[in-house]
Amino acid sequence: MELKGKTAVITGSNSGIGLGVARELAKAGANVVLNSFTDNDEDHALAADIGSEFGVEARYIKADMSKPDECRALIEKAGVCDILVNNAGIQYVAGIDEFPVEKWDAIIAINMSSAFHTTAAALPVMRKAGWGRVINIASAHGLTASPYKSAYVAAKHGVVGLTKVTALETAEEPITANAICPGYVLTPLVEKQIPDTMKKYNMGRDEVIRNVLLERQPSKEFATVEQLGGTCIFLASDHAAQITGTTISVDGGWTAL
Ligand code: NAD
Repeated sequence: MELKGKTAVITGSNSGIGLGVARELAKAGANVVLNSFTDNDEDHALAADIGSEFGVEARYIKADMSKPDECRALIEKAGVCDILVNNAGIQYVAGIDEFPVEKWDAIIAINMSSAFHTTAAALPVMRKAGWGRVINIASAHGLTASPYKSAYVAAKHGVVGLTKVTALETAEEPITANAICPGYVLTPLVEKQIPDTMKKYNMGRDEVIRNVLLERQPSKEFATVEQLGGTCIFLASDHAAQITGTTISVDGGWTAL
């Protein structure tokens, strides 16, 4: 229970990596605040289930990470924010010359600018508490590029840059800021890309997974949400107190290529 007494706010956490990270942090004893842009009974039930399963305080707060005011309001409503995990993200794939402007704007807002707004609101709270951890879920695409993902790659590189600046501005304080760069993780975001890719390459599901999705992931295995949660726990631990301003790849060797 190494995170007992800490509160973690995880953006975009009613699904996929965010939900997995929230569960691992709660398992390690942290109180958790889940978030997405919806306000359904199921969202609140997810938090209630985590709370009863792990014996921690778990809340769900609706806030749309495409809207600066709502990003900041999420931290205000949470009240406490010892660990901020900026995870909300969307994807859209198209060539630059055909990329819809509204998709570009949405990806930059949700995948990058939201982390600026939540961090801006969370740093004063962390300073008051005398401790803090900013953990940005970037991507292997924060360090490398792929065609047709201009907005996503730009946003994720931006998040890595923001992480470095956050680390420098807090370097003499008991606050760290780091980015985790996952390779492919089988979440709804990736699952949605499989049917189109099967059609495009005229391949079966397994072939698409091994030869297309995991083409650049030498381990030929997806990273898991539990592994990403574990990486967050490590970054939140005292062992990582001098790790700041850096990226940790959880990508089966992708960025070693
Ligand atoms: P996902 O689609 O399962 O989850 C995305 C989460 O973001 C959901 O909870 C969704 O509700 C939330 N979200 C979307 N728009 C939002 C908004 N406007 N406001 C608030 N929340 C919003 O996707 P995922 O694969 O779990 O992705 C999570 C993060 O991990 C993203 O930033 C993604 O870029 C990153 N990532 C994913 C992979 C992967 O292979 N799955 C790899 C590298 C990085």
